[in-house]
Amino acid sequence: MIIPGEFEYVSPSSISEASREIIERDAVVFAGGTDLVPMFKEKLVTPKVVVNLKKIPGMDGISFDKAYMSIGALTTLASLATHPSILEKCPSIGKAAKSIASPQIRNVGTVGGNLCQNLRCPYFRQDFPCHKRGGKKCFAVGGDNYLHSIFGAKRCFAVNPSDLATILVAYDSKVILESKEGVREIFLEDFYLGPGEFDIEKGEILKEVVVSSENMDNTLDAFLKFRIRQSIDFALVNVGVVLKIQNGLVEKASVVLGAVAGTPYRAVESEKALTGNELTKELIEEAAHKAVEKAKPLSKNEYKVDVARILIKRALEEIMERTL
Ligand SMILES: Cc1cc2nc3c(=O)[nH]c(=O)nc-3n(C[C@H](O)[C@H](O)[C@H](O)COP(=O)(O)OP(=O)(O)OC[C@H]3O[C@@H](n4cnc5c(N)ncnc54)[C@H](O)[C@@H]3O)c2cc1C
Ligand code: SF4
Repeated sequence: MIIPGEFEYVSPSSISEASREIIERDAVVFAGGTDLVPMFKEKLVTPKVVVNLKKIPGMDGISFDKAYMSIGALTTLASLATHPSILEKCPSIGKAAKSIASPQIRNVGTVGGNLCQNLRCPYFRQDFPCHKRGGKKCFAVGGDNYLHSIFGAKRCFAVNPSDLATILVAYDSKVILESKEGVREIFLEDFYLGPGEFDIEKGEILKEVVVSSENMDNTLDAFLKFRIRQSIDFALVNVGVVLKIQNGLVEKASVVLGAVAGTPYRAVESEKALTGNELTKELIEEAAHKAVEKAKPLSKNEYKVDVARILIKRALEEIMERTL
């Protein structure tokens, strides 16, 4: 791959070494480069040092033990999309991975890179001097905002573009962050602080994603994505649902929308409506409505409110059919 720009390219063999490069030389972390290389071209990122993670052992691959599943941050999206145990135990994680970009990008793009990818707001990408680029306004407000947030925002209305984030948050996944100072484990949901903002300290690297067996055993999941082009396209809205159903009743419900807010959006009111109840057509309608009650669309993205409601309804119907 030709990487545009002038910088030093280093390939450390440990997280600790990579961490030192980030702290001491302000290096930028490079995994598959499918998001970063376009940003180098667009001069959105102009590093002096680039740290290639791919020579660090132990950051790649999917493994299972009794307590949890681990997905290394360097696992490619293609491996995730086709891994037999993923397809058996949590098929919607594989489905979400398969829905991303093209086979070429999935062969190179990694799980860590997908979760940490930058914003896709066209104003941001095209060098408009908005809040996110040190300016004083958001061009999406009063501008072309059909891609943007429907759940309000303070300054930036860009959405989280990651399909994987939606379904992995629905699985209550955790991320392991490691630096030369030590290791930290937090919920993926808490990793997202706002549009393009992550709870990652300088020097930390996302090492792996873990999903507890408890969240996979006896659960049914669904992932649906609405986009304009069916081949390669980011979601306009997506949804990840994970339900634990025992004795005909929903014991635990996780309903998460993506591409509708600056972070994955947990539909708490839907989850409350579903929990403790039998999954019926009426309950599904109610849960889908409750998910979007607090939506505050902008001038050109009201369609997302309907799409979000319909996707939740369809995802829950898919799950209900599997229980019959
Ligand atoms: C044409 C196209 C279509 C796409 N369509 C979709 C789509 O439909 N859905 C979707 O979800 N995504 C989509 N993407 C985004 C794509 O999934 C990401 O570009 C890819 O997953 C990034 O992975 P990477 O390994 O190439 O990351 P890189 O480009 O190497 O890095 C991306 C960012 O993550 C940081 N980073 C990478 N790894 C780590 C780590 N382990 N720890 C800390 N920081 C890290 C980098 O510093 C950088 O800021 C698309 C991209 C393209 C180019
Ligand atoms: S939505 Fe965010 S990234 Fe886009 S123009 Fe507004 S402030 Fe900039």
